Amino acid sequence: MTRSDARKPESDPLPYLSSIELNRDGVFKNGVSGTVTSVSYFKEYVTHFSIWLYSEPCMKVWFNAGGEADTEQTIVITYSECHFGGYRPWFLCPGLRGHYCKQRVGKLYLYSGEYACRRCHNLTYKSRMRNPRSIITSLGSLMDNQTKAANLMAHLRTVSYAGLPTKKLLKIYKLIGDNEKLSTNVSPERMRKELGMKT
Ligand SMILES: [Zn+2]
Repeated sequence: MTRSDARKPESDPLPYLSSIELNRDGVFKNGVSGTVTSVSYFKEYVTHFSIWLYSEPCMKVWFNAGGEADTEQTIVITYSECHFGGYRPWFLCPGLRGHYCKQRVGKLYLYSGEYACRRCHNLTYKSRMRNPRSIITSLGSLMDNQTKAANLMAHLRTVSYAGLPTKKLLKIYKLIGDNEKLSTNVSPERMRKELGMKT
């Protein structure tokens, strides 16, 4: 793990579109329309899509990324031949803010209000690293600490012994202090920023 990796957001918890999963549902055969729903950071993201199979096959997607108006993107579809016959569909990454990327990918991630490939979003795989500062990790530690503190409180019979605070009380203080630091990591402002939400 390099230093720059630690600042990259993880790609796994983000909403995504997978050409393999959509192909399994048969959407590329007949040019159908539908929706993909994913849950990320406790929020539900609904992406509507419509497949066009004319001269340049593409997938039109529209979704609400937190702002007033829906965002619309057009994703070009390309096919590769499979070993055992048939074709596998891929997305050509639409890139960010109009900068066409064209990278052939199986997954596009919704981050900062746009679908794009891992490279465009500067995302890294969860398996390659654990970002200790990620919101989900912080939230998990926060909840663990809360449970631990509550358990200690439930068994706290005395707060001081021989004029000094008891070990249990000190442990509770430490957990509360840790949670104060962690709560700045999971602030609503930071969540909105990470997700590229306007409101
Ligand atoms: Zn890209």
